[in-house]
Amino acid sequence: MKKFFSKLTFAAALSVAFASCKKADIADLSPNNEGEDKKGISSAKGIQVVPNELLVKFKAGLSEDEKMEVLTMVQGKVKEVVLTEAMKSAGDKEGIALLHTSLASLEAVARLQGARGVEYAEPNFIYNHFATSNDTYFTNGSLWGMYGSTGTPANQFGCGARTAWANGKTGSSSVYIGVIDEGVMFTHPDLAANFGTNPGEIAGNGIDDDGNGYRDDVRGWDFAANDATVFDGVSDDHGTHCAGTIGGVGGNGAGVAGVVWNVKMLSGKFLGSTGGTTANAIKAIDYFTDLKTRAGLRIVATSNSWGGGGFSQALQDAIVRANNNNILFIAAAGNASSNNDAVANYPSNYPVANVIAVASITSTGGLSSFSNFGATQVDLGAPGSGIWSTVPVRSGGTTVGSYASYNGTSMATPHVSGAAALYASVNPTASMSTIRTAILSSVTPTPSLSGKTVTGGRLNVAGF
Ligand code: CA
Repeated sequence: MKKFFSKLTFAAALSVAFASCKKADIADLSPNNEGEDKKGISSAKGIQVVPNELLVKFKAGLSEDEKMEVLTMVQGKVKEVVLTEAMKSAGDKEGIALLHTSLASLEAVARLQGARGVEYAEPNFIYNHFATSNDTYFTNGSLWGMYGSTGTPANQFGCGARTAWANGKTGSSSVYIGVIDEGVMFTHPDLAANFGTNPGEIAGNGIDDDGNGYRDDVRGWDFAANDATVFDGVSDDHGTHCAGTIGGVGGNGAGVAGVVWNVKMLSGKFLGSTGGTTANAIKAIDYFTDLKTRAGLRIVATSNSWGGGGFSQALQDAIVRANNNNILFIAAAGNASSNNDAVANYPSNYPVANVIAVASITSTGGLSSFSNFGATQVDLGAPGSGIWSTVPVRSGGTTVGSYASYNGTSMATPHVSGAAALYASVNPTASMSTIRTAILSSVTPTPSLSGKTVTGGRLNVAGF
């Protein structure tokens, strides 16, 4: 996991270049810096992009001949047209073209900047999750993040969930959260009861019953492998860990408890063994946007413990579509110990009203050493150091549910996602903006977050 940490540090360094220049200056990134490592991941100045790919938004109504001219400019061909149901609902009939190019991807992007017929062209970035694990064995179940000011002194910096539970506020099975991450071990004993299903889909019949473009997407969809299997084994530990913090089954006398004890989660898996791409992140975000209206589910938020890359208009547009459908986009601030006001971190920096950017704090109330911050770009802090939650492990030749302690803004983010679900359960008609305001206005002022976050405080759900 340290590998991810160093990669993220590089990504932050590159983000300086992005943040300090206009979008069009992406073209200034020298293609010569784009090399491929052994995994086929290329990078320029530390940022990761899918080699020989780019995303292009053609201007509306462009003829096939005109598109061909654009393709010729980059020796490209259309690999896939990303046209999600959410895009169609938003009035976009053409979507985004994912191109394969024989050029280095950044060179291809540079050639298309300002080209006739091109709305925008950008790399297909690679994103990674924002966690570091320090152990894979369950030795200590101290869930400090769920305590609060009424706990023991050692636990006073938790999010106050214990108080909410004591007041009978433990969530609702009619509230849904989309976990956009790796996959989730939804059979984990501490998750099974709180993992939802797509009500419009019949499992295993090979038919797209609800017509959303995905066959047998009962638990969500794996956008990395493009199949219905959202749990692929122990490599889905990070997604499983995040899910346990949102909604680990509480009160069952075993394991951990999430911020909400009752909730329904669905998986938008797009992070695979080499991370996830912009194209697949867009599909995952749009999946939940579409599902909300299609199935009438009360999807209040997606939980996004991942990041990297530079600015993407295409990704921002997907977040806007979620916003326009009243879905919060709760995002990790990043693990580069840097200031997101100076060095943009994506997706947490996108200027869309549904975004909540989350920093990480320790059990003694400090800003976690790895955590990004930002007086205007990071909203609040939440527990992210030494967080115990659910994971899959191999034991006796099978994959079984277990527990582990991880660190990261990845771990802080699902605390806030759980808080959104908790508030929504207590306030059945609350809008997205009401939920967001409730979370941000109820923080506990915290010195380590003062001047480093918008609210200057840490998550506090005790009064929900
Ligand atoms: Ca379907």
